[in-house]
Amino acid sequence: MRREFSPKVKAAIVNRAMNDRGFPVCEGCGGVLKLKGYEIDHRIAEALVVDKSKPLTEADGQLLGPCCHRGANGKTARDVKVIAKSKRAERKIRLGIKGRSSWRKPPAGYNPWTRRIET
Ligand SMILES: [Zn+2]
Repeated sequence: MRREFSPKVKAAIVNRAMNDRGFPVCEGCGGVLKLKGYEIDHRIAEALVVDKSKPLTEADGQLLGPCCHRGANGKTARDVKVIAKSKRAERKIRLGIKGRSSWRKPPAGYNPWTRRIET
């Protein structure tokens, strides 16, 4: 069974994440969330918690905005992008070593990084 944070614990987490101007701040990236909405995230996914007899406390949760919460733009999706970016950088370095004399210009409109054909 999944434990949920009690209203009292949620309030304590939101209070902790509040900046001095009274706005909740994302505890993942530090971004001010204002009225964009936020969620209390389980620091340890409930699926991984073995002992669920203890009630959740404010130490078990963190305030996350849509910027950092799981989902289409969540942490996992961004990790994938970072990995792809580092692979592209690696490839650029290798091309650089080959030297300019062996560099062949791609056809106009061809972008090897996005494969987007401009019309
Ligand atoms: Zn964030």
